[in-house]
Amino acid sequence: MVYNFNLRTERKNFYNITSYVRQAVIESGVSNGIAVVYCPHTTAGITINENADPDVVTDLLYALDKTYPDRPQFRHSEGNSAAHLKASCIGSSVTVIIEDGVLLLGTWQGIYFTEFDGPRNRRFSVKILKG
Ligand code: ZN
Repeated sequence: MVYNFNLRTERKNFYNITSYVRQAVIESGVSNGIAVVYCPHTTAGITINENADPDVVTDLLYALDKTYPDRPQFRHSEGNSAAHLKASCIGSSVTVIIEDGVLLLGTWQGIYFTEFDGPRNRRFSVKILKG
């Protein structure tokens, strides 16, 4: 079962999509298995991080900008190599265990869609596997 979602993003941000993934798990009726959350874009990603203090996301965006600044030596003609770097650093998917119908996330964990080159119309998919 694949569940597809659309997301309108800002220039750069982290979007907590945990509730969408939970909704997909409920709709699938799968009690035990895994959920794969996947982003089919090259300047956006998917990650798991803290859901309590919004300053964590702010700090992550700040640190990613400092770690992967735009550089005049970059050759990619679209001019967004820094966003491609951040997307590769974050990764395109996460896998979460489903146990007794619930995502096995830690108390402080949330699933995030990460935008590095918006605003854009984005999408992500959730694949639920029984097992
Ligand atoms: Zn590009």
